[in-house]
Amino acid sequence: MATGDLLRNEVRSGTELGHRAKAYMDRGELVPDTIMLELFRQRLEQPDCQHGVLLDGFPRTVAQAHELDRMLAELGRRMDHVLFLRVPESMLVRRLAGRLTCPSCGRTYHVELAAPRADSVCDVDGTALVQREDDRPETARHRITVYLEQTLPVLEHYREQDVVSDVDGTGSIEEVHERLLAAIAARCMAGEQR
Ligand code: AMP
Repeated sequence: MATGDLLRNEVRSGTELGHRAKAYMDRGELVPDTIMLELFRQRLEQPDCQHGVLLDGFPRTVAQAHELDRMLAELGRRMDHVLFLRVPESMLVRRLAGRLTCPSCGRTYHVELAAPRADSVCDVDGTALVQREDDRPETARHRITVYLEQTLPVLEHYREQDVVSDVDGTGSIEEVHERLLAAIAARCMAGEQR
């Protein structure tokens, strides 16, 4: 579940929530916790989340992390693994600023690192690709500042729970993919031995 995608769906569908969230997203700010938690709770209650969920982009504040702990405890569940991808800031800006997104299916590309087969057109549905408003270099840089101030403390929260794996996020998509799979496998094996 990617909370950014949930929000972009709300914006596309023209809902009241989407309208409120869009102003924050376009500026590269975080959407307020009250909105996020409501959206997240609704999604977590869907049947496809009952056997476990991979979270992308959530929690992004310590308040969200505390509330998530509470929600999971209520369901008799817990956070069992957090993957922290380490990437230098200059590389992050390059990756964000070169990203292209399909407005129809949400699939992402990169002008150099994962280019579409035909120039600027989605491989899946042929829709013209766009640059997300918040991927423009200036906004992307601001998102990184917001991340350092508001989201990085979340990492400490999970380090205290001893669930974090640090993964080198530099290199090709395939290399990072392999490292992520290895970190997940190592965690599963450690869990079985406990
Ligand atoms: P993403 O697609 O994960 O990069 O998210 C895009 C934007 O959606 C972020 O810059 C925020 O404005 C908003 N957003 C996504 N997830 C969250 C969250 N957990 N808390 C607050 N804002 C969020």
